[in-house]
Amino acid sequence: MTKTVYTFGGGASHSDPRATDKTITGGKGANLAEMAGIGLPVPPGFTITTEECVRYLREGSDFSDQLRADVAAALTHIERAVGKSFGDAADPLLVSVRSGARVSMPGMMDTVLNLGLNDATVEGLAATSADERFAWDSYRRFIQMYSDVVLGLDHGLFEEALEVAKEENGYFADTEMSAADWKALVTEYKGIVQQELGTPFPQDVNEQLWGAISAVFDSWDSDRAKVYRRLNDIPGDWGTAVNVQAMVFGNMGDTSATGVAFTRDPATGEKAYYGEYLVNAQGEDVVAGIRTPQYLTRAAREAAGATAPSMEEAMPDAYRELADVFELLEKHYRDMQDIEFTVQQGKLWMLQTRSGKRTAKAALKMAADMVAEGLIDERTAVLRVDPMALDQLLHPTLDPDAARDVLTKGLPASPGAASGRVVLDADTAEQWAGRGEKVILVRVETSPEDIHGMHAAQGVLTARGGMTSHAAVVARGMGRPCVSGASAVSIDAKTRSLRIGARELKEGDTLTLDGSTGEVMAGEVPTIEPELAGDFATLMEWADAHRRMKVRTNAETPADCRMARQFGAEGIGLCRTEHMFFDAGRISAVREMILADSEAGRRKALAKLLPEQRSDFVEIFSTMAGLPCTIRLLDPPLHEFLPNEDAEFADLADVTGYGVDHLRRRAAELHEFNPMLGHRGCRLGITYPEIYEMQARAIFEAACEVAESSGEAVVPEVMIPLVGTKRELEILRKLVDDTAQTVFAEKGRTLEYMVGTMIELPRAALMAGEIAEEARFFSFGTNDLTQTTLGVSRDDSARFLAVYVEKGIYQRDPFVSLDVEGVGQLVDLAVERGRATRPDLKLGICGEHGGDPSSIAFCEKVGLDYVSASPYRVPIARLAAAQASLRAE
Ligand code: ADP
Ligand code: MG
Ligand code: MG
Repeated sequence: MTKTVYTFGGGASHSDPRATDKTITGGKGANLAEMAGIGLPVPPGFTITTEECVRYLREGSDFSDQLRADVAAALTHIERAVGKSFGDAADPLLVSVRSGARVSMPGMMDTVLNLGLNDATVEGLAATSADERFAWDSYRRFIQMYSDVVLGLDHGLFEEALEVAKEENGYFADTEMSAADWKALVTEYKGIVQQELGTPFPQDVNEQLWGAISAVFDSWDSDRAKVYRRLNDIPGDWGTAVNVQAMVFGNMGDTSATGVAFTRDPATGEKAYYGEYLVNAQGEDVVAGIRTPQYLTRAAREAAGATAPSMEEAMPDAYRELADVFELLEKHYRDMQDIEFTVQQGKLWMLQTRSGKRTAKAALKMAADMVAEGLIDERTAVLRVDPMALDQLLHPTLDPDAARDVLTKGLPASPGAASGRVVLDADTAEQWAGRGEKVILVRVETSPEDIHGMHAAQGVLTARGGMTSHAAVVARGMGRPCVSGASAVSIDAKTRSLRIGARELKEGDTLTLDGSTGEVMAGEVPTIEPELAGDFATLMEWADAHRRMKVRTNAETPADCRMARQFGAEGIGLCRTEHMFFDAGRISAVREMILADSEAGRRKALAKLLPEQRSDFVEIFSTMAGLPCTIRLLDPPLHEFLPNEDAEFADLADVTGYGVDHLRRRAAELHEFNPMLGHRGCRLGITYPEIYEMQARAIFEAACEVAESSGEAVVPEVMIPLVGTKRELEILRKLVDDTAQTVFAEKGRTLEYMVGTMIELPRAALMAGEIAEEARFFSFGTNDLTQTTLGVSRDDSARFLAVYVEKGIYQRDPFVSLDVEGVGQLVDLAVERGRATRPDLKLGICGEHGGDPSSIAFCEKVGLDYVSASPYRVPIARLAAAQASLRAE
């Protein structure tokens, strides 16, 4: 029969590996057993397995007979170890009851301390401890905790009664309460329970124990716990363990204390003990803010200029013992530990240890230091840092010491901080940025026409739109800080002003955004720039040594390309040529091309664009210096380039010589009901081959020019978007090939190049075997592939997506993290069919998912050659790809 309970401490031996298996005894229980096992002073106790929790909940809140018997036996183990009996009026054993799932989980039941006290045992405790005050203090704590977490009474009732008692006595601190005062308060507490529940506070210690155990089990299914699980991808069938442990008392006078500690500084990573303690206190007093805790070490106390003695000074023996425990635990777990301890009359007891949470900066420093110390190897270091945490380090951040005048808070849509002058439209953003101003683009919401303004701006603020709105997605892609959905912002386009709550601002006033918190601040708050140096650079080198997949970037400006290379990009996975068309100097030629009603008219306009486009590619190829560059030919529906406003139509009429009416009619003709599924992608190339021909020419001319001037071998990869059939690719590949041959003949130079396609339609994935006959490479365009597979428009999903994720219909936002189950099947299938046709088919991903660690793990699994991420995500992708490789080994 499998055991339902595991004992620890007090000489318990546990050869059974389940005792220290977090999946069985939970994180807290497993570590208590492990600490006891290596000889650390752990108060004896036992852990009820997570399996019993699952069984209890499944069987309608019923304890099995075996559990009852096992708990009784385990209780005897504690009694024997401590030499006291549970419920013994003369010398009672008291215990704590603590929840503990596999991972630490807010939302679970709070710990109950001092369980086993009642009107009789409290007298015994007073007698054996010779400390009446301590006994009654413990009892009142117990009644309050038990009533709150097990009986479900409002703890405010008890706190209020304590406040009143202190006031009546003229006390300021809890420590002034005497034994008699606590005793009187206990009477009052029991009265509150009687009054609220109509039944007395339970005096039977076994009833207390089983009440607490069922409360822990039930808390697994509390609303708070469920919400937390959903947000953190924790399965509902894990269950929680229950830990029952002999009490040790930090509230037995001035030689007793309770504290929390980290073996290294969790904020900086510095190898220095870090922690706090309180004399004559119990449990959560340290973090509850009732009294100001004192520093652990003398150095920390002195650095803070505090006067209250550190533990090192006040309790040197216990401190020295604790410091030895820190060293031992770090050696044992080979990681920084987060520890809870109590000192009872000079004797140290360990109550918890776990791997400590840390900032990204600390994570990198600790990983690098521990390798240097020989505590871990490089692979472990690479696996230990959370790739997403690096995001904290990859954007300029606000100087934490600077003052902030916060106007409102929106959604933290794209991390990083930015300051600049408010501009209310994209053109103004570009103009002002063009003359060297830093600007913040403020819009109700953004659309593709705002892209040039977003690019020109330091940051973007929108009044509407969620975490996956256009503004949010594009800003993240560009690495621009963005706060979206700041509903307190209202814009008045006429007076060129905006209101944020009660404050009035004009275009040109300065704002600061913190895209990591959603804060919008008045004026300029100073920032600190990101840097890939020091420990960060070291860890990246180790990551690269263990990585199979290459990491490229999605970039189209030389500035982004340079940034991406600094962050370690090994090529461009997606260069979107349309962004280049939005440039202020070119948009009119683009519009002229779109509005022309003959091929001759289009060619005339395209001839104006050719040199511009060629110079873009020259810059990009030079910047990338021989690294592979995938360039996608024009993709968006043409109407995205057209004007909306009267003045713009008038300007356009001037430039093109067409009448305003003609222009409006042509614009109306281009209107589409469903542009995402309309006249876009390779369909443009099929219907207006001259567009793709111009782009191909620009690419090959630029490649020849750079090859000539730099001697660097440029290998352009020309990518055709939105292909659904082999025939489309066949036609367009021929167009690209013919153009290449023409250019090569003109230049008297031949270059290597590739033509491939995006796989972003389900049909393309299904027909990948056939399409691969025409394609040298596939790049999975998982943004569109997700849209078309799920039938969900990314730009319109904000309205329901949050509800879908909350209800667990989607586990995560499928535009952020690839829907591996569904869309993943299409990717898998396309890889298999494509490679069957062409074994050397080059495979990559260029959707937003290319920068998402769990999606990257999937890419490793299906065997892609590279992932491509926005410049600021490149280090995240490098680390995630390395972790995926290591885990696959
Ligand atoms: P959490 O998971 O919220 O940290 P814990 O179960 O660790 O909850 O306990 C809450 C507080 O009670 C901690 O300060 C812990 O050290 C203390 N505590 C728990 N069990 C005991 C015990 N047997 N004796 C003394 N203090 C305890
Ligand atoms: Mg704890
Ligand atoms: Mg696409």
